[in-house]
Amino acid sequence: MLKLLRMTHQREVILHELRLCSHHPTADDLYDRVKTRLPRISLATVYRNLEILSQAGLIKKLTIDGRQKRFDWDPTPHNHIFCMNCQRVDDITCEVPEPLVAVPEQTTGYCILGCRINFFGLCMHCQEYISNKEKGE
Ligand SMILES: [Zn+2]
Ligand SMILES: [Zn+2]
Repeated sequence: MLKLLRMTHQREVILHELRLCSHHPTADDLYDRVKTRLPRISLATVYRNLEILSQAGLIKKLTIDGRQKRFDWDPTPHNHIFCMNCQRVDDITCEVPEPLVAVPEQTTGYCILGCRINFFGLCMHCQEYISNKEKGE
């Protein structure tokens, strides 16, 4: 649910830097970027503001077991693909097929409003790296 949020200068800078990143950065990545504009900001402050912004629905937090949280400037529904080798995260646009929603709706009695799918694989860089290694280069 959207809450009214006071847009502080810190939050504006954090949002701005997040929008410049297309790769779903971690809080640490963003901290490095924000620090160049707000040298006195702490990692804890960046972290807290990211939590507040995601609770307000302005950004999206991506949580995957065993990985650092990633932040997404785009809060609209979309799916993600994760590289299992280099931790890269990309957006993926693909519709969830109907039966995937219809079956659990019938069996659980829930009215299902959405479904998020995480894809895992190897990004193009990692595929290239691995095939070069196999060739002994
Ligand atoms: Zn990769
Ligand atoms: Zn995304």
